[in-house]
Amino acid sequence: MLHQALSRLYEAAGHLDITADVFEKLKSPRETTQARLVIRMDDGASKSYPAWRCRYDDTLGPTKGGIRFHPDVSIDEVETLAFLMTMKCALINLPFGGAKGGVQMDIHNLSATEQERLARRYVQCFAKVIGPNRDIPAPDLYTNSTIMAWMADEYAAIVGEVTPAVITGKPISLGGSLGREDATARGGYYLLLHQAQKLGLRSGARVAIQGFGNAGKHIAQLLGAAGFKIVAVTDSKGGIHCSSGFDVDKLIAAKRQGSVTSLAGSDGVCTLPADELVSVNCELLVLAALEDMVHAGNAARVKAHIILELANAPITPEADKILNAKNIVVLPDILANAGGVTVSYFEWVQNRQGDSWPIEQVHARLKTRMEQEGDAVWTLAQEKGITLRGAAYVHALSRLAGAIGAQDMQHFLIAEAPKR
Ligand code: GLU
Repeated sequence: MLHQALSRLYEAAGHLDITADVFEKLKSPRETTQARLVIRMDDGASKSYPAWRCRYDDTLGPTKGGIRFHPDVSIDEVETLAFLMTMKCALINLPFGGAKGGVQMDIHNLSATEQERLARRYVQCFAKVIGPNRDIPAPDLYTNSTIMAWMADEYAAIVGEVTPAVITGKPISLGGSLGREDATARGGYYLLLHQAQKLGLRSGARVAIQGFGNAGKHIAQLLGAAGFKIVAVTDSKGGIHCSSGFDVDKLIAAKRQGSVTSLAGSDGVCTLPADELVSVNCELLVLAALEDMVHAGNAARVKAHIILELANAPITPEADKILNAKNIVVLPDILANAGGVTVSYFEWVQNRQGDSWPIEQVHARLKTRMEQEGDAVWTLAQEKGITLRGAAYVHALSRLAGAIGAQDMQHFLIAEAPKR
């Protein structure tokens, strides 16, 4: 997976004047720590789970990235996602490097008290790795603000100091930022609306959404309120289709009860096999589930003209080529889903200042960043005649390469050598 992700970096390098030092630094992670988390279950037995934290690169600042709890988590996945965080933070111009954490487990098999013990154990095992000036975790797949609160509390107990800036995505009452909850979707939404004219996207357009977790739910709300028609949705249990458009409140209520699929059979809603979502007739496809969902085997069936990647790495490089040949525009993950880490950065800044910003300020700052960096990526793509993903990597890599170059002592010595 990492090899595949790095291929996009090497491709971007072809458009820049990059020294070998930059690749030497970025070709593999700086530090990956592995642990086995042993916890006591409610029935008295003990169980253990493999866990990782990868700090991929810290040239631009302390490393930043979420922790996911999922059965498919592996060292390769964690390192790849940490690499993507490195590119994402560089692209959106945050003073952060990239990191990721994960525990290989199924959260559905653990009670709330077991989840709390696991979250605390994670911090006990990785307390030396993380820190407000070193590495700052946040939520990701199947982790949320409650889990972040347990983790922040455990960290405070270990270091003997309340340290809210060690973790972001906390509950508001414990130093979380207003606007962090829907930030991933909202960032993508601001980007989409800002580029709508260039993309030929009109209000009322039909939308299919893959995944109905945090990002999928909030993008449905935002697009629904803006007059878009949500015609198909999937979650981990399956999918549904409604050609006249869903009532988003009903989707959210159904999901709260277990799955959106319970709406099938009512008001013109029919069942849709989950793997058919990508081939639904629509103008906009939102990918908000897992990695590699659009691949060489199904990319040719995509009917949307625009794809918004709210998940990390939902399209494989082979699928990218197929979509590009079909003139489908992809708003790439490292740009489209950067709203989450951007508001995480705002939370870290507020925690360090002992401040809390009004929601309007969070939204305005997020909007500015998404629009500015979105415009920069768009212009680069036009100038170089490359895809938005290609341009996003070029944009991020040029920032990183500039910073790596500035750190280079050899370069400094040559530049400062007295002239004879
Ligand atoms: N997990 C999110 C991501 O993949 C957010 C990370 C963060 O807020 O640090 O971008």
